[in-house]
Amino acid sequence: MAKNRRAPSTAAPLDPRTPAERPADAARRLRDATDSRLAQTRRFRSVQLKALERLLAENDEALCAALAADLGKPDAESRLTELDRIKAEIDHAQLHLGDWVADRHVRVPVSLQPATARVQARPLGMVLVIAPWNYPVLLLLGPLVGALAAGNTVVLKPSELAPATSALLARLVPAYLDRRAVAVVEGGAETTTELLGQSWDHIFYTGGERVGRIVAHAAAEQLTPATLELGGKSPAVVCDGNVAAIARRIAHGKFMNAGQTCVAPDYVLAVGAQVADELERQLPKVIASFYGKDPAASRDYGRIVNDAHFARIASYQQQGRVVSGGSNDAATRYIEPTVLADVDPQAPVMTEEIFGPVLPIVRVDRFDDAVRFINSRPSPLSAYLFSERPRLHTAFEDQVRAGGIGHNVCNMHLAVPDLPFGGVGASGMGNYHGKWGFDTFSQQRPVLSKTAMIDTLRAVYPPFGWAKRRIMRSIG
Ligand code: NAD
Repeated sequence: MAKNRRAPSTAAPLDPRTPAERPADAARRLRDATDSRLAQTRRFRSVQLKALERLLAENDEALCAALAADLGKPDAESRLTELDRIKAEIDHAQLHLGDWVADRHVRVPVSLQPATARVQARPLGMVLVIAPWNYPVLLLLGPLVGALAAGNTVVLKPSELAPATSALLARLVPAYLDRRAVAVVEGGAETTTELLGQSWDHIFYTGGERVGRIVAHAAAEQLTPATLELGGKSPAVVCDGNVAAIARRIAHGKFMNAGQTCVAPDYVLAVGAQVADELERQLPKVIASFYGKDPAASRDYGRIVNDAHFARIASYQQQGRVVSGGSNDAATRYIEPTVLADVDPQAPVMTEEIFGPVLPIVRVDRFDDAVRFINSRPSPLSAYLFSERPRLHTAFEDQVRAGGIGHNVCNMHLAVPDLPFGGVGASGMGNYHGKWGFDTFSQQRPVLSKTAMIDTLRAVYPPFGWAKRRIMRSIG
């Protein structure tokens, strides 16, 4: 097997007959590589990150085409929200890998001196990454960056609901990365169940809460640590500011990828009638300025992933007063960007994660009411506040429980590699991106080193007479 071989260019077609990986075979192969510590060397990690960079650069068009086939994603959006994000993660990891892998020396208490103490970041071993369909490249290869940087072997399980992307990655990954250390296993629930039955050193899952519980259960059975990147209803609280600009920021965060974004503002809490009225005036104008009079004809607007999700989202379009949009087309799984008002807080559109291009506006009288509303529900993945008042920013940070916070901006906190990304409570556990990803896939191992040539520990050996007790208590 060629190790770290040069990747083929896109001009050379990849072998379409690459056999499908089976869970047990992939796990066995990677366990061998893990046991031989293949992926641990600094050089191996760097070479794999470079290969991943080349995979993205040389297959940009093919990846955009697969994303368009699966989700009707516009190429510009695919690059901006998926491919460029992975490249940024790779660049960041390459730049900082030397610091991340270096041992961190810590102070040794007087009672243990002379000695040195270090914290080592050690690879966890063999990692399973399970990805969803909404950002099927980013959410599969993004975690891979951290896992490879940390020196692990990795099995990737793409979502079966993005079949073109899944098939493409199943061909590309083995063509560019070392097959001994990285594998792609395609399939649905049955395959994932089989994968979960293998022995892992870490499971990294992104997706909905229901499957998150299944993954957590399977991980617990084997005492395997798991990261769960889940979703939820991320609120956007609008208090004050330039409402036209606020409407643009909310609409951009909401309607990209046709609303199928885990951190998208799920609903708006408009504080005060004036703000709510102005948002109702501005949002339809913004939607028209982004996607034209007929968003169905816009090249910049996506489609819903499958019929089941289409039916679910279409039913939300009727659960309030339609401020903007409201139409759909089952044949093309098109849902018009829709803004609703006067929604019932107990209606499905306000109790289920929308995960589509429907934006309810809920009116509240005061900032405190908005905070109470958010905290009375499961903790969201993100919470956004639109206000120019620093006092409210502080109050929002102090009082709202959410995976991440954005002030006057939606979705973009996840584009800062030095910020951790993850949920809390119902929106998940653990985090990644940048060093946070490296740490998620590493064990922080303590190492204490002394010499035994001179026995400096005599004071702690029994019997504990008066003099020893005094010495031990004085040096701590
Ligand atoms: P999905 O249906 O693609 O499922 C995710 C993975 O679970 C897939 O690989 C799938 O094969 C597997 N799976 C499905 N059923 C299974 C079963 N019964 N047993 C074992 N595995 C199974 O994705 P989804 O759940 O529809 O994704 C949407 C959800 O993901 C939303 O809630 C969204 O907010 C969340 N999400 C979170 C993030 C994040 O970064 N936190 C990102 C994207 C999506």
